Amino acid sequence: MSSALVFFSDLSAAPGKAQRELLTLASRFQTAVVAAATEISAEARDVIASYGIGTALQAANPGQGFGEHELAVLDAALLQTDADLVLLGNDSFSRELGARIAVRRNAAIVTDVVDVSADLIATKDELAGSYSASAKSTTGVLIAAVKPNSIQDAPAGSAGTVQVKELDLGAEQAPKVSVVGVEEKAVSERPSLGEARVVVAGGRGVDGDFGPLEDLADALGAAIGASRAATDAGWISHDAQVGQTGITVSPQLYISAGISGAIQQKAGMQTSKYIIAVNKDVDAPVFEIADLGIVGDLAKVLPQAAAEIRRR
Ligand code: FAD
Repeated sequence: MSSALVFFSDLSAAPGKAQRELLTLASRFQTAVVAAATEISAEARDVIASYGIGTALQAANPGQGFGEHELAVLDAALLQTDADLVLLGNDSFSRELGARIAVRRNAAIVTDVVDVSADLIATKDELAGSYSASAKSTTGVLIAAVKPNSIQDAPAGSAGTVQVKELDLGAEQAPKVSVVGVEEKAVSERPSLGEARVVVAGGRGVDGDFGPLEDLADALGAAIGASRAATDAGWISHDAQVGQTGITVSPQLYISAGISGAIQQKAGMQTSKYIIAVNKDVDAPVFEIADLGIVGDLAKVLPQAAAEIRRR
């Protein structure tokens, strides 16, 4: 008779792929309630209803802060629903939020979760997927931070309605941190890495120049990914890291360029539907999992591929 509470920091727009996966997982439990730290948009309400979830709790849009509002919303939603399972994303903000609520509620948190069973046993991958571990809360509520691309998105198919209620946060405590400056980052026109159908990823072999990868990604409408060697070198943002300590992707096509294929990199991309590897070393481990391997210099192969795609 488990009751799941699925929490989103922002439901002011239509839910994306990773959010839909969380809704799918939540919908498998006896009761499921959505809570959001923003107002829930009309598109989001329709999507929630399509998973057979009939109740959602919302709070007014937050000001700028560092998670206090989201923590207050999650705390109030837990009080109101009496859930024994909280489902969150596995991004760093959600994991921190999960840890904070776990401390506040003396609850258990498990991160990198790939599934939660009806009897509240969370499964997570260990050592880059070499084995999986099952964990159970020994202290009340289980908080599970679920990895993207772990759950097959499956709406219930029936278009019901969702009843949206305002959460009473009481008097929110004054934030302990105040924002003194905000600098907007340039917004990329590329699809987000976790949701892209095509990913072009580069490693140490790009030698500091992601230009040929960006050109190919533009030709394909792809997202850019990277190995840890490339992000650690500062050639590209850490947000682009694919692998055990980065993001897990499962696109239709993953093009790996100048990446050797270490187990920690494979952990984040080996479920891609089709893998093309470009590497100048014929013995590179990445060729073991590639559907198509190209032995060559990426600085020559990628521009040729981009030119050919544009020509067609
Ligand atoms: P390398 O292993 O140095 O490989 C570079 C490749 O480029 C070589 O195969 C070479 O033949 C090829 N190459 C060179 N020049 C060219 C060229 N001109 N054209 C074509 N090919 C060329 N790694 C991740 O990626 N993601 C993670 O999340 C991650 N997490 C980790 C967590 C832990 C706890 C640890 C210990 C390690 C982790 N790593 C992770 C690091 C991982 O072990 C590897 O060190 C890393 O993936 C190597 O990156 P790379 O393949 O780009 O570099």
